[in-house]
Amino acid sequence: MSRENQQDKFKVISFDKEQNRMVELEQTRETFADVGGLEEVKKRIKMDFIMPIQSPEIFQAFGKELGGGLLFYGPPGCGKTFLARAVAGEINARFLHLDLQNILSRWSGEAEKNLHEFFEDARKRTPCVLFIDELDALGGNRQKMSAHHDRMLVNQLLVELDGSVSENEGIYVIGATNTPWYLDPALRRPGRFDSLMFLPPPQFEERKAILTLKTNGKPQQDLQLDLVAKYTDHFSGADLEYLVKDAVNLAISRSFETGEIQPLTNEDLMKAMEKRQPTTLEWFATAKSYAQFSDKNHEYQDVLDYIYQYNLK
Ligand code: ADP
Repeated sequence: MSRENQQDKFKVISFDKEQNRMVELEQTRETFADVGGLEEVKKRIKMDFIMPIQSPEIFQAFGKELGGGLLFYGPPGCGKTFLARAVAGEINARFLHLDLQNILSRWSGEAEKNLHEFFEDARKRTPCVLFIDELDALGGNRQKMSAHHDRMLVNQLLVELDGSVSENEGIYVIGATNTPWYLDPALRRPGRFDSLMFLPPPQFEERKAILTLKTNGKPQQDLQLDLVAKYTDHFSGADLEYLVKDAVNLAISRSFETGEIQPLTNEDLMKAMEKRQPTTLEWFATAKSYAQFSDKNHEYQDVLDYIYQYNLK
């Protein structure tokens, strides 16, 4: 493959509401090697999603159905988007990001039209990972849409997902939601979003990897990221990103005061850490009641395991 083609494969494409068309964002080259930790999840994705794409004949020989999409869920900021991009990197596919909030419209039929156009565009750009973020927007956003419009949009999504086999060939769908228990059951049927995966807040090693990633290349002095990672239980990836931003701001103000570049220090990180609380705990408080009382199929056991492991309220 020529260098140009190779680069083209990694384009990130997203639906821009203002321009009402697909736009190219930036290039992505992440693979699983860039995702800190989450070993069990990566293993399952390889088995359920990547291997059937790479060696369909093995799965067919054993009579296993091919197709079907992954559904990532968990507290916000814990790597759903990041992991979906890494899946695209693993299978050498383009990454198309659709934030459902962006295609909603108060005009009847408009959202369905936007969704259809997005899928049509994806069909021209295969192989691609089509990442549908904020699936909770279907059904959750009553201010913007009536219940009737909601239903129509779900139906349109089902039509697009089920498209005749040839039509969707080379499109690999990954969905993400913070609230899987609100999803329309029709979306969870076999061949649709049938493989549910919990992405918990990063553990110690993952937090260290994220902190390293976020402080890389910045002027710094003997940072002890182990220490920060140790005291940031339940912090999401996004929380850690903000923590580093706050700390960097402290180093920047010091640099302004002294007129010279002052490196980021442990003290900056500690001060920033004291001011931030993990945002994931609120999510667990809500998730707990669903996992305990409404989980007929025992789908949310991973959530309960996390809650019991850390003795969360
Ligand atoms: P979500 O889609 O779940 O809301 P994101 O995928 O946008 O969250 O992740 C938020 C931030 O945290 C991103 O900047 C991402 O780089 C980082 N991040 C989250 N999990 C990991 C991880 N396991 N390894 C490296 N970075 C991570």
